[in-house]
Amino acid sequence: MKKIEELDLEGKKVIIRVDYNVPINEKGEIVDDNRIVESLKTINYCLNKNCKLILLSHLGKVKTEEDLKTKSLKVVSERLSKLLGKEVMFIPKTRGIEVEEAISNMNEKDIIMLENTRFEDLDGKKESKNDPELGKYWASLGDVFINDAFGTCHRAHASNVGIASNIKEKALGFLVQKEVDNLLPIINNPEKPFVVILGGAKISDKIGTIKNLALKADYILVGGAMAYTFLKAKGISVGKSLIDEESIEFAKQMLSSTDKIILPIDHITNKDTENNNFTVKDMLDSDDIGLDIGPKTIDLFESYIAKCKTLFWNGPMGYYENEVYQKGTKELCDYISKLNITSVVGGGDTASCIINMGYKDKFTHVSTGGGASLELLEGKDLPGINL
Ligand code: AMP
Repeated sequence: MKKIEELDLEGKKVIIRVDYNVPINEKGEIVDDNRIVESLKTINYCLNKNCKLILLSHLGKVKTEEDLKTKSLKVVSERLSKLLGKEVMFIPKTRGIEVEEAISNMNEKDIIMLENTRFEDLDGKKESKNDPELGKYWASLGDVFINDAFGTCHRAHASNVGIASNIKEKALGFLVQKEVDNLLPIINNPEKPFVVILGGAKISDKIGTIKNLALKADYILVGGAMAYTFLKAKGISVGKSLIDEESIEFAKQMLSSTDKIILPIDHITNKDTENNNFTVKDMLDSDDIGLDIGPKTIDLFESYIAKCKTLFWNGPMGYYENEVYQKGTKELCDYISKLNITSVVGGGDTASCIINMGYKDKFTHVSTGGGASLELLEGKDLPGINL
């Protein structure tokens, strides 16, 4: 796949697949506009080439008629317009005469955003199943296609692979290129020692990535609820902590095949998640819930991080939605931010957590894509990149 700079874009009609799948609260307000901000480089580059821009994105999953009310991209078009200081014309349709007329009336540097591509999913999952007719139709709206939506690169949808297979001139945008340039060296050529921090709750959807990282990393520090699945696999009491039952066997296999996995030695624990009367314990009792890594574990993890030249981090160290259990994640962020190392954060929860805590600029790279970054690190070819 070409880089955007390799294309002749001057004055052309450019379709950009952006990733505006941003969190929106019950009041309909955007909670975190990082993904919109990250898309500006490609948009501004195209505007400087006097292009007419047609933006496509999905927003959440669309399964029912009800979703049509809460998953509109209108609010996103307004935020983009504010960030650019320029009108973004929102068309509340994904296809049809209104779309075609608006595009034929465009002037140079005009921007049009179509409605959520997944509105097409209500009719036989046309977007998510890469309906050939839909990809062909969207491709017919422009001269050039730029894929700048990293978050969906691990999926073949009509709005990425479908368009790309029906258009000659195509390239990756700056955002996707930056993701590839920062993530691939992590598995292909990490400067050693290479330390991986893993947390969060689920193991089952990260098994391939964990296996591949275990081949490349010197140490894997496991925190969050994920640690309790590993501790249980070792026969250590985890009380009522959250575990990923179906992954215990995998955890056992990992622990017997490598000694790179480092587990917590103390815990911030509580009897329930509703009150904040936590205690710090080395061993959990049968009614304890482990909700964050303890101070000894923070010191232990930092002693490994201190030696590394490359660091990859996916998954929070605790139940961070409650501020009381953010300490482990926050202290590690603080420690890493003082080091002169290559530090890369996988997307999803870890990225939002680190961005909300104000550490985004302290890392070499914070990925915008959860599943996509994990699949890239698993060593897979992503359909949205190899267009
Ligand atoms: P994942 O989607 O697998 O990356 O997991 C992220 C989720 O894991 C977040 O919602 C965290 O609150 C949750 N989490 C991390 N550590 C714990 C823990 N010790 N107990 C409960 N939830 C946790």
